[in-house]
Amino acid sequence: MFSAFFFDMDGVLFDSMPNHIAAWSETLAKYGIPFTARDCYLNEGRTSRDVIMLLAERHHVTVAEDQLEQIYHEKTAAYRRIGGGKPMKDMDKVLQVLTSQKADIWVVTGGGQLDLYEQLEAVFPSVFQRNKMVTAFDYAHGKPHPEPYLTAWERSGFAKEDCCVVENAPLGIQAGKAAGLFTIGVNTGALTRDDLLQAGADVVFDNMVQLEQWLGN
Ligand code: CA
Repeated sequence: MFSAFFFDMDGVLFDSMPNHIAAWSETLAKYGIPFTARDCYLNEGRTSRDVIMLLAERHHVTVAEDQLEQIYHEKTAAYRRIGGGKPMKDMDKVLQVLTSQKADIWVVTGGGQLDLYEQLEAVFPSVFQRNKMVTAFDYAHGKPHPEPYLTAWERSGFAKEDCCVVENAPLGIQAGKAAGLFTIGVNTGALTRDDLLQAGADVVFDNMVQLEQWLGN
């Protein structure tokens, strides 16, 4: 089994994607840009700026430079109002197995919340450590670029074959594979198994119970 596990946050540790979808939909609707759950999962990992530009272009809506910032702030405000989501169902069981195996447990996210450690500690007590968190402050290029996962791997000190990425979205899976790491896809959202396999996942599970059983064997 692997020595270090690099967990993505949204859609893996936290069941926060439905709240992101709600925040994006309500904000973009005001600008005449449609937004679906599938759009959310397929673009998860991109910067908000890129998501807005991509969808605006697809729907032939012109968005001025200063509007980009405005839309981003409105989406962030909507997300804060709706709330950050609850812990992913059965994630505690997965972490319990890894803790009992004395695995090194990391979080690797595009998020940049200053209170991320406190959020993790509140729902998964004594699992995460401040020096085992790679966030938006730690790298220049976001997923699907390999830099977030390469940063975690370098800091972990383990060989690549001893490290494993856990992701829920295609761009995150691409980042894990581009970093040369074994990458597990857990399909916790609106995509299909094929979406995650086509992104390059080494193995795909439909839920955390399947992952827990695989890790325990
Ligand atoms: Ca994710």
